[in-house]
Amino acid sequence: MSDLYDVTIIGGGPAGLYTAFYSGMRALKTKIIEAKNELGGVITHFYPEKTIYDVGGVVTITGEALVEQLTRQAETFQPKIVTNQVIDRLEKREDGTFNLISTNGDVHHTRKIILAVGCGTFDVNKLQLEGAERFEGSGLFYAVRHLKQFSGKDVVISGGGDGALDWAAELAPICRKVTIVYRGEQFTRALEHQVERLKSHSVDVLLDSEIVALSGSEKLESVTVRAADKAEKIRADALIVNHGFQYGLGGIERWGLSLENNGIVVDSRMESLIKGIFAIGNAASYAQKVYLIAAGFVEGPIAVNSIKQDLDPEAPSQAMVSTHHERWREQLD
Ligand SMILES: Cc1cc2nc3c(=O)[nH]c(=O)nc-3n(C[C@H](O)[C@H](O)[C@H](O)COP(=O)(O)OP(=O)(O)OC[C@H]3O[C@@H](n4cnc5c(N)ncnc54)[C@H](O)[C@@H]3O)c2cc1C
Repeated sequence: MSDLYDVTIIGGGPAGLYTAFYSGMRALKTKIIEAKNELGGVITHFYPEKTIYDVGGVVTITGEALVEQLTRQAETFQPKIVTNQVIDRLEKREDGTFNLISTNGDVHHTRKIILAVGCGTFDVNKLQLEGAERFEGSGLFYAVRHLKQFSGKDVVISGGGDGALDWAAELAPICRKVTIVYRGEQFTRALEHQVERLKSHSVDVLLDSEIVALSGSEKLESVTVRAADKAEKIRADALIVNHGFQYGLGGIERWGLSLENNGIVVDSRMESLIKGIFAIGNAASYAQKVYLIAAGFVEGPIAVNSIKQDLDPEAPSQAMVSTHHERWREQLD
């Protein structure tokens, strides 16, 4: 059986990371468990290079830099950080503590739980083509995490949603050629201004078309595109597939929590219907909920302060401001 923690935060996105920091401020023994092999939640996986303008006090910051700052901050009080584990099952023990069981069978013992799981675990829809996985990492991509890696290349993008069109417009100025292949007759899932932007960037658009084969010896060299009954081979150093993604709370849906709007219903303490289980960030659902990174920075401390008082009713209702915290006080003296 693993060590007993005061708080286990499930989810290492921005909400979970900041909450781990605040939990340390309250001297709670804290663990974070993240399903992916990297921290940062949807920021890391979907928009590391995007500029974020709406985090209070930070005029502009890229997603990647924000995650780096949040991770460093989370590490201040040295929480235990576990990655690559999907929490699936819950057991309530006779003494009121919980066991959290991951899909690989590991058991995590904790007094309280904070669900910072966003919309749950997420995975991209892969290209449904036999043998395509052979090119993953050598020409086949499911996200554009760093624009520069495509610089000067012939790039084909498969998909017709707003993500696909945004990538095409951003890549066109730095690539040798960008071609979009989409099986629809027109881009019904994208905004009009995105379609206009494509024209100004001279992106080749093949509608009513789909990719039917990938070729290359060591790495991807071309893709075969079929339109009606004719097939054409197009040179491609990279194929970027944007066919949407699947997400869900998985086993957490069976814990008996109240769910609405893809979230977990919480009260003003951020506590769910099950005592001892809290939810924050995009995973929390309540009236007037705001789905912004900054929301988790408030909801996390509310959940942690509630937990602190449940574990120690004599404890102050909130942490002292950071400059008066003993961790930093000596730097002021
Ligand atoms: C394209 C895009 C652009 C955005 N731009 C902005 C912006 O400019 N400004 C802004 O404020 N917001 C923006 N947002 C919204 C913002 O990203 C979210 O509000 C924020 O990421 C929510 O943080 P979170 O920590 O609650 O959830 P997430 O970031 O979703 O992180 C949840 C984490 O929990 C993990 N997890 C889930 N289930 C389990 C499990 N069972 N076991 C273990 N781990 C699990 C996931 O792997 C994930 O890492 C944007 C969102 C998108 C998609």
